Amino acid sequence: MNAIYKEQNAYNLRMLEIFNFNTGKIEQADSWLSQDNETIIKLRYALRANKKAYGCPSCKTGVELKKGKDGNFFFQHNQREEGVKCALIDKLSYTEQRIQLYNASKEAEEHEKLKRFIYDHLKMDPKIIGAPEIEKIVKGKKVLSTWKRPDVSCNYNHQDMVFEIQNSNTGLSDIVARDSFYKKEQVAIVWVFNQFDPLSSDVKLTQADIIYNNPEVNAFVLDQAAMEASKVANRLFLTCHYRVPQVNFDKMTIEISWESSLVALEDLHIDAETFKPYVFPFYRKLNEAKQELAAQIQYEGKRIEKEKTHGRIVAVERFEEARKARLLEEKRKKEAAEKHRKKLAAQRAEAEKRDKKIKQEWMEKAAENRLAKIAQQRQVAQQNRIEADKIENKYPKNFKDLTTAQCVELIFKNKYSRDLLNLNRRILELKQMGFNLPDDILSILEQRQSIAKMEGTFSQTQFQRASGY
Ligand SMILES: [Zn+2]
Repeated sequence: MNAIYKEQNAYNLRMLEIFNFNTGKIEQADSWLSQDNETIIKLRYALRANKKAYGCPSCKTGVELKKGKDGNFFFQHNQREEGVKCALIDKLSYTEQRIQLYNASKEAEEHEKLKRFIYDHLKMDPKIIGAPEIEKIVKGKKVLSTWKRPDVSCNYNHQDMVFEIQNSNTGLSDIVARDSFYKKEQVAIVWVFNQFDPLSSDVKLTQADIIYNNPEVNAFVLDQAAMEASKVANRLFLTCHYRVPQVNFDKMTIEISWESSLVALEDLHIDAETFKPYVFPFYRKLNEAKQELAAQIQYEGKRIEKEKTHGRIVAVERFEEARKARLLEEKRKKEAAEKHRKKLAAQRAEAEKRDKKIKQEWMEKAAENRLAKIAQQRQVAQQNRIEADKIENKYPKNFKDLTTAQCVELIFKNKYSRDLLNLNRRILELKQMGFNLPDDILSILEQRQSIAKMEGTFSQTQFQRASGY
């Protein structure tokens, strides 16, 4: 069992005695702790600054002043160096171990089982030089005073190699110390988990510390599958969990997933700098994925650029088409306008022609009317003459037989002109028709007061008024 594991609770001890390095004497802790707070705080600082002031009476490991939950200060035993024996801690470790045993036994058993399993299967591997060891101290060759006690150690194909089984109580400082030591000593360190679930939301911090400090983020697990493979092959197999970067071309991102695979010791690459093993080079794959993504982005960029250019050409073509269409439309409109104009002109010409025709017709008709009127007038005149003839024919021809009214009617029936010349012409006309009229007929009619005035300018109305008609 890991020595540090046993000690975890032992260090919570309130020390009753402390060793004064300056005087070489053991002092009672209470005599110190009964001083006032200010003095204690100053001492606390001094202890931090100079660890060699006070220590454990047994092992001389430094002590520190801590404040308990009850508010009182107490001296606490610092974590001892590996291999240092201390009556106080060993005794307490044993007691604490008893208390913790029930909870820890399962994990301890598991640890023991894995350690034994690794050892057994290394032993059967023909590439192991010499024999593997369990908890054998590895002494520093580069830094001589240092040493570590790995769970299992071996030389695999001329490479010194240790196996450290990670458990829940392995602290970060312990991990760092071991990593640092083996790196200096150029010993490959394989951290082995008994179980590992990268997708679990509560990946243990210790596991994370180990995994993410692996140069290629590989995690090695001795799980059921690895055990079965080991048993069949008669050499050690481990399940390696590793991250796989992949370009998601839809999202243009790199997606990282966890995968796992059974690996043998011969598959391990030992990182030249950290001396940690890996099988699957995550960072190289990540770089490749990044390059692939960059290339894809560049390709996409070019494609988009090309599409843009194409788009521009299409746009120009479309613009040209639109322009042509517009010109055609304008031409069509012009033609339509021209056609319309011609139509209007034709209509106007037609209207003019029609007007002219109507006018002509009207003029013709007017002329006709005029002619008709003339004809009518002629007819009327003819009629009048016939009528007149009738008057002339129905009256007696002798003056003695004629009444004054009949004489006036005969002479004045003609209404065109009443001048004397015309009247005389009428009288002559009547005489020629056979009327026996005296030469002074007009005077006779005047004497009879039938005619008020016999002058050439008489109008019909005046004549009628004068003549009593
Ligand atoms: Zn001690």
